[in-house]
Amino acid sequence: MSILIKNILHNNQRTDIFIENNSFSLIGNNLDVKADKIIDGSGKAIVPAFYNTHNHAAMSILRGYSDDKPLFEWLQKDIWPVEAKFTAEDIYIASRLAILEMIKSGTVFFADMYFFCEQTMRAVAEMGIRGAVSKLAMDMFDRSRTQTQKKATAEFIKFSNPCPERIIKCLSCHAVYTVSDELFTYIRDIADQNNMYIQIHVSETEEENKDCLKKYGMSPIAKLDSLGLLSPKTILAHAVHLSDKDINIIKKRGAVISTNPTSNIKLNSGLFMFEKLYSLMPEQITLGTDGASSNNNLNMVESMKMCSFAAKIQGCSAIAGKASDIFKIATVNGAHAFGLNAGKIEEGCLADCLLLDLNNPFLTPNHNLISNLVYAADSSCISDVICDGRLVMENHIVPNEENIISEAQALAQKIKKIK
Ligand SMILES: [Zn+2]
Repeated sequence: MSILIKNILHNNQRTDIFIENNSFSLIGNNLDVKADKIIDGSGKAIVPAFYNTHNHAAMSILRGYSDDKPLFEWLQKDIWPVEAKFTAEDIYIASRLAILEMIKSGTVFFADMYFFCEQTMRAVAEMGIRGAVSKLAMDMFDRSRTQTQKKATAEFIKFSNPCPERIIKCLSCHAVYTVSDELFTYIRDIADQNNMYIQIHVSETEEENKDCLKKYGMSPIAKLDSLGLLSPKTILAHAVHLSDKDINIIKKRGAVISTNPTSNIKLNSGLFMFEKLYSLMPEQITLGTDGASSNNNLNMVESMKMCSFAAKIQGCSAIAGKASDIFKIATVNGAHAFGLNAGKIEEGCLADCLLLDLNNPFLTPNHNLISNLVYAADSSCISDVICDGRLVMENHIVPNEENIISEAQALAQKIKKIK
């Protein structure tokens, strides 16, 4: 498969871009090459696509199911009881809904943490985007659950990846308040043996930090470090409440942070110290949405604006959370965090990109495209999405959209009855 995009705006200049197999092959003027598909890029701009580093995709089916409650009450009373009744097929239907929403808002990769994750992989493989999909481990300090979770993890390791070119199999541990030392160290060893990424929620709320200090005499970051869980292959979701000591540990270990500003603001968890952390470890900061039941969407365009505004309020400064920095964490940083040679429109990079409609009112006038994208745009500005050299959305249309929506609506009716 090859695609030739003619006369597209790239870094403020018109050019042609040739995509061959799954990467950007040639970028230059008046390219004279044969392609399977030619796209007229006049009136459009090309930018990198988004890499969402923290998600629970299937929770999209719980969008609006329970809102306006504190994190622990929300999880324990509303979310966990309904999740316990989900079937594997429900997770497949819900994951397809999430991926549809992500494609429509320009995301080509998401890091996921959930159960029945084989079904999320199935949806990723079918719909053409990328995923770092993990088996969620959580035992609530119950010895019998620890054994069940260890067995489930061992089975997951044996499960054959349905699409190795676009899916990274990962592990995850929910958090220090839901996972025993025995399960944490088991997951760490399995990850080490198989060279896998581990995703963990950490220091999302002040309450989590206080409880951890009381129980273990140290912060959640220090606790994870004491268990040998922090490395460049660890993705720390949230990391809102960090001491200087915690920050030094993260920097030293090279662990990646996924900030989730929209979820943190909605649940009043606190504001991420963007400017301080970005200045100390600019390559280690990435952007995520969290699940749609705590956001309530998976829209990285919106999350970029939220991230910038949260940074300005937290840093008490209008120059905190600059559009160019926010765009970087939403694109290339997320790709690099998972070892992907992507997130840039450059020859040799994986061909993941968005085509933007420059006639959209949100992008007019075009004094500064990245500023427009972070501060003014919504997902209607994105007309086409290319992932791994293939169009996954063309002229705003994603294949099977109606079918995905109607199946999700039927599943939502079933969930209502469970309640
Ligand atoms: Zn989360």
